[in-house]
Amino acid sequence: MKASRKLFFVVISAYCVLISCLHIGNVYAQDISAQKYAGYITIAGARKHLTIIASDAFEGRETGKSGANKAANYIAGEFKKLGLVAPVSRTYFQNVPLKDSSLKAVNVMGYLEGTDLKHEVLVFSAHYDHIGISLTGADRINNGADDDGSGTTAVLELAKAFVQAKKEGKGPRRSILFLTVVGEEKGLLGSSWYTDHPIFSLENTIADLNIDMIGRVDPAHVSNPNYCYLIGSDKLSTALHQISEQANDTYTKLDLDYKYNSPSDPERIYYRSDHYNFAKHNIPIIFYFNGVHEDYHKPSDEVSKIRFDLLVKRAQLVFYTGWELVNRDERPKVDVTNDMPTHR
Ligand SMILES: [Zn+2]
Repeated sequence: MKASRKLFFVVISAYCVLISCLHIGNVYAQDISAQKYAGYITIAGARKHLTIIASDAFEGRETGKSGANKAANYIAGEFKKLGLVAPVSRTYFQNVPLKDSSLKAVNVMGYLEGTDLKHEVLVFSAHYDHIGISLTGADRINNGADDDGSGTTAVLELAKAFVQAKKEGKGPRRSILFLTVVGEEKGLLGSSWYTDHPIFSLENTIADLNIDMIGRVDPAHVSNPNYCYLIGSDKLSTALHQISEQANDTYTKLDLDYKYNSPSDPERIYYRSDHYNFAKHNIPIIFYFNGVHEDYHKPSDEVSKIRFDLLVKRAQLVFYTGWELVNRDERPKVDVTNDMPTHR
């Protein structure tokens, strides 16, 4: 009786030690550096960029018009301030020819070189163009604060965070391309041009994390705005999906909504933003999206309606996912085959 009671206590205490180890393990699973640099993505920083990008001065950023080119210059200026490499013949601009037009349009990109795995590249993308000026109405300028000023802003804040990490000796092992594209609203022109004329080989491009509208709340989530729609994460790579889920479980704890994830979804969201041009080349992608809302493609898509707390949190999810992707030993393996059509 006595002996077995002793055994009982030994078993119980061993169990307790195991449980507390697991708890410590959980704590250690949070990467302190990742958290530190995610903290460089801030409400103040996001507000500063978006207030400029979605201002009336940029006239709705229509591709080929002066407003879009002003936005391109602003983004390039920010990339330069951060010290990102200008990867296209020493400029930040890739010309995107427009059919039957003499108008000028450019993708804007900044490059951060990695360390031991620098030949591989992670892309963070967002489109900076929008739909320009409406013909009628009191307020005619479509500011596109959410679409996709929010994604463009997120890319600038992500760049700031990774640059700061590199300055402090925690630079990414893989390289990063911060890619803001033009012509999305005219049919994904800029991303299509980039993937047909890549600056960094597509074979060595390990994933594209694309952000298009992350600053608002759609009608389905008014009662719980702590969410983000994720689309495409499991379509090509099991590992990418797991990394994304784990990043969210460990740090940001958003409700990840996969409602639009099915390629057969009637909204066809999977085909409707720039990530698709990477996916069609078999590059794993995740698309981050808040869903459509009453101000979608209207002059009322303005900065005053942006939830900067949510924009920052969603951008931080992108950051944590990206941090793992650029620093882990293995790139996310393409191990899912699917029969998705290769056209929009
Ligand atoms: Zn958009």
